Amino acid sequence: MSSAERTRHNAFANSPLDRCGEHRIDPGWLAAQRRAPDGRYLACDSEGRTPVFEGRLCWLDAATVAAGAPVNFLGQLDDVPIFALREPVAPSAFPFPDAAWLDLRSAASVLPGDEAGLVAYARGLANWQDATRYCGYCGAPLALADDGHRAACPGCGRLHFPRTDAAIIVIVEHGDACLLGRQAAWRPRQYSTLAGFVEPGESLADAVRREVREETGIEVIDCDFHSSQPWPFPASLMLGFTAIAAGRTIHLADGELEDARWFTARDIADGLRDGSLRVSTPMSISYRLIEHWLRTRAGVELSELPHAE
Ligand SMILES: [Zn+2]
Repeated sequence: MSSAERTRHNAFANSPLDRCGEHRIDPGWLAAQRRAPDGRYLACDSEGRTPVFEGRLCWLDAATVAAGAPVNFLGQLDDVPIFALREPVAPSAFPFPDAAWLDLRSAASVLPGDEAGLVAYARGLANWQDATRYCGYCGAPLALADDGHRAACPGCGRLHFPRTDAAIIVIVEHGDACLLGRQAAWRPRQYSTLAGFVEPGESLADAVRREVREETGIEVIDCDFHSSQPWPFPASLMLGFTAIAAGRTIHLADGELEDARWFTARDIADGLRDGSLRVSTPMSISYRLIEHWLRTRAGVELSELPHAE
């Protein structure tokens, strides 16, 4: 299976949306999208929650949205323009009173993958806009350009574009075992693959080697890309890797982890069965990496094990 195919199975990573990047810089084209009678509009409340009803997103249609309401253009689905409202909507004023207003994690657990991806995209863009109100060069207040995908500085003329913070996440193996760690703040008995942000001037492989060494003292001798996942909490892109370790002697070097251990496939299966081990939810790339390792090394399906969430 290719990394593209593996990525397609990650939460938030399977949106069929055409982002229309080549068109959205054209104000005339954007204005026509805005006038389209079949346009669909995604709402959120002041907490960033999205309305969901019976496992699907609740959309506002073009007739419901005021003509001048500030919106972010997300793209087109089957030639239908898709927008997200920039201003929060009060749930009490929303035309579907039975909608449940869900945060992104909760929405992702009930929505189909394509809709979860859309919400993640809208949330990520909104997170960037919320955090990018002033120019980092001259301090002047920024003005969002019409499509919401850039912010212009009236002071120095610079354009600001949405940023994404790259983070590696890696399942390290040695012989018949994989390396998982836990932070003190996590719920009891939960272990996960190792992760950390990529630093300036660093390749992805460098980041994998450094993070694993810093957190556990383990030397990585090789790594391969597995898949990626947008993770707008608030602005990350998770880059998943598999890696091979030189040895098994763990030294919790930087204090980020409370514990790190080597787990065989049997250890993971037994731990999940008897409740002594928890792993992340299936929407996480950590789950996908552990699933991949169990499947390819031991023929074990993580989803068939109990207490896997
Ligand atoms: Zn400026």
